[in-house]
Amino acid sequence: MKQYDYLIVGAGLYGAVIAEQMTKSGKRCLVVDRRDHIAGNVYSEKIKQIQVHKYGPHIFHTNNRMVWDYVNQFASFNRFTLGTIANYKGELYSLPFNMYTFNKMWGVTTPEEAAEKIEEQRRTAGIAEPRNLEEQAISLVGTDIYEKLIKGYTEKQWGRPCAELPSFIIRRLPVRFTFDNNYFNALYQGIPAGGYTKMVEKMLDGAEVRLGVDYLEHKAELDALAEQVVYTGPVDAYFGYCFGPLEYRSVRFETEFLDRSSFQGNAIVNYTDQETPWTRIIEHKWFTFGRDENGRDLPGTVISREYSSEWKQGDEPYYPVNDEKNNALYNKYKALADREPGVVFGGRLGEYKYYDMDQVIAAALDRALSLGR
Ligand code: UDP
Repeated sequence: MKQYDYLIVGAGLYGAVIAEQMTKSGKRCLVVDRRDHIAGNVYSEKIKQIQVHKYGPHIFHTNNRMVWDYVNQFASFNRFTLGTIANYKGELYSLPFNMYTFNKMWGVTTPEEAAEKIEEQRRTAGIAEPRNLEEQAISLVGTDIYEKLIKGYTEKQWGRPCAELPSFIIRRLPVRFTFDNNYFNALYQGIPAGGYTKMVEKMLDGAEVRLGVDYLEHKAELDALAEQVVYTGPVDAYFGYCFGPLEYRSVRFETEFLDRSSFQGNAIVNYTDQETPWTRIIEHKWFTFGRDENGRDLPGTVISREYSSEWKQGDEPYYPVNDEKNNALYNKYKALADREPGVVFGGRLGEYKYYDMDQVIAAALDRALSLGR
């Protein structure tokens, strides 16, 4: 009998859920992570008392009551609701696309007027069946919004023309004919009090965690420790890139502390023109309403400028590029993964899927059930 029932590679949300579920059902779990911290890309750490989302802003949102109840076992969530501002060459617009956006763009004041304007622009563009992100965007919100709020941002974020990107990416954003700036169509939303790292720490309670351990470098000796492996790293790396590398987008942050109470008055401001080199600026204190856990005003502020780039070996992968070419390549890896004995592949990197946090958790809970939790 081996020392552990499960070796879990990656201490992000997928790995943490599996560890929590399997530990609870009496299994012995070893979690390893290449980084020197837990929580994967939801990791947050304090800079001068302000919780900083080190790998980009994460706002927990879900319509899944079961997932919401699950995470609430490990953290209490504040009432943060994301409303994003788009800055297009100094003009500010509300995101996601809603009556405030339409009013600012066209001066329309009723839902009917807004819908007419969009219909008129869609007709002029001559789009019947949208085949890519550009056509999908124009058919959802018209040409003006596409040109000012979507094209520049999307091409900076993805490094590809909108006409070559899959349309599902833009359908992540709601389009509403109401005055509602909530970025997500989610019944439940918030930020965990004390930060995501603390939440994941609680989930990992009871499992053994080893940090700074590169699984693929020590695969044989680590595999020998456990009956089964749950791998949440990049699936192409696991197979030594045998079919060639999958494409990912990476992001980089320039973070600084500013000795003033506010920089931009909102947690996220997107820069939607082509010329500004960053995609967005995050001002972290607004995820907690400018206060610390005890309700005291946070002095100063921390901002992060986010820059997007094509992933290359050695960078952190953030976003899978789920276009046709990469999905076809992924399917080849998936066929290998499905035949890999004793190994389960999961999470954004393990399944090459643009998962949100709640979807990752739901998928991991499902997987834990099938593992016999
Ligand atoms: N998007 C856009 N303009 C914006 C914000 C988003 O065109 O100001 C598009 C862009 O293509 C992006 C997609 O909407 O990739 C999804 O945005 P979301 O905020 O969901 O991306 P994430 O938070 O995962 O980075």
